[in-house]
Amino acid sequence: MTTARTRSAAATAVPPGDLAAALRAAGLTGVDDSARRRAEYSSDASNYRVVPSVVVFPRHADEVVAALDVARRAGVPVTSRGGGTSIAGNSVGSGVVLDFSRHLNRVLSVDPEARTALAEPGAILDAITAAAAGHGLRFGPDPSSHSRASIGGAIGNNACGSRALRYGRTADNVVSLDLLTASGERMTARRMGRDGLTAAGPAGAALDALVEAHLGLIRTEFGRFTRQVSGYSLEHLLPENGADIARFLAGTEGTLAVVTGATVALVPSPKAVALAVLGYPGMPEAAEAVPGLLPHRPVAMEGLDARLVGVFRARRARRPSRPCRAVSPGCSSRPRGTPRPRRAPRPGGSSPTPAASTRWWSPAPRRGRCGASGKTARAWAAAPPTTRRPGPAGRTPPSRPSTWVRTCVTLPRSWASTAWTA
Ligand SMILES: Cc1cc2nc3c(=O)[nH]c(=O)nc-3n(C[C@H](O)[C@H](O)[C@H](O)COP(=O)(O)OP(=O)(O)OC[C@H]3O[C@@H](n4cnc5c(N)ncnc54)[C@H](O)[C@@H]3O)c2cc1C
Repeated sequence: MTTARTRSAAATAVPPGDLAAALRAAGLTGVDDSARRRAEYSSDASNYRVVPSVVVFPRHADEVVAALDVARRAGVPVTSRGGGTSIAGNSVGSGVVLDFSRHLNRVLSVDPEARTALAEPGAILDAITAAAAGHGLRFGPDPSSHSRASIGGAIGNNACGSRALRYGRTADNVVSLDLLTASGERMTARRMGRDGLTAAGPAGAALDALVEAHLGLIRTEFGRFTRQVSGYSLEHLLPENGADIARFLAGTEGTLAVVTGATVALVPSPKAVALAVLGYPGMPEAAEAVPGLLPHRPVAMEGLDARLVGVFRARRARRPSRPCRAVSPGCSSRPRGTPRPRRAPRPGGSSPTPAASTRWWSPAPRRGRCGASGKTARAWAAAPPTTRRPGPAGRTPPSRPSTWVRTCVTLPRSWASTAWTA
């Protein structure tokens, strides 16, 4: 970790009412405190709404430094924002919202030898994968929002996605992070080892002291299972884990530092993928089958219950149904220009049977064909609660147990001829 003080905190205080003016006076050009802009940034993909005082669109890291300095002097919070696809209010906040997606969104370089990419925080995950595709590489974690989500947001949320089964979480795929702390320190965070941590200035020494004071608790309660992603992942700071500050910062939701650049690991793209669709009578049976499937090293695995399939079937009854990328993000897309494969006939006629089946799908969804339309979503919201059925994200209520569960497993193509039974 290298540190350098970028600004003195001893500057004059900023009255909250003068926030936008102070930001402009600090040299920032992308400052917007209009009612419309603040309304636009008051929500993300969650149900929460917090109206910010001002929205800033930084063009480079120095502008981020200046914005943090003004916010510190005004005593207002700073919320970093990428795609704004968080579903728990992670990217809304009062004070200053820093939107990295407008200008700081480039993939700066790809190193095929080291299998890494250097990206600005607002770079979209798909853009990183697209930049690496020519080398047969991709960014491993793929939240379903990968075409909108940024690398800064994926780091903030420690995003996973269905491929996390093979490639891990975002924390497992960060190499080093350029960042700014609230006090204005610039740092490059990476795996440092304990000696490197203690030698890294006040911030590193403080982190080391925190770990030392709670060593037993961190060793026994943190990092117990792979999807333990809520809260601060202090296990990454343990000496035996290399005191990795970059990994530790994944999942901190911008509360400890602002990421201004990220070097991330890339993984080899599979040359071909296959999708196996397995049917089970219920969720418990599907869950029980998982340990038996894992030794086959699937890239991705998703569970869908009967209600979810039913919603799509009912709402799309008059249109030719097409599998949704959100249903199985592990599916490979049909290359442009190649003919669409014929869909395999449904076993046993028009309704699915609980018996296992292997089916080839060509996902290739068109925009707007997946998920509920705004119209159906509004209709659902307007319906009396007693008649509502769970929306596409709904779960099977306890009173209506699942009758048809599909487990989508993306496997190497060599498994295509395997007859799966459940
Ligand atoms: C339909 C849908 C499907 C989803 N599927 C998944 C899924 O499969 N798996 C999954 O993990 N998540 C999923 N999500 C949640 C979300 O899309 C992901 O976590 C995504 O990675 C967030 O990226 P973003 O750019 O939108 O981040 P934002 O929402 O903009 O920000 C996320 C967090 O990161 C912080 N942040 C953003 N930029 C920076 C920065 N430069 N420095 C420091 N902190 C920063 C923010 O303050 C915030 O706390 C889904 C969301 C939706 C709406």
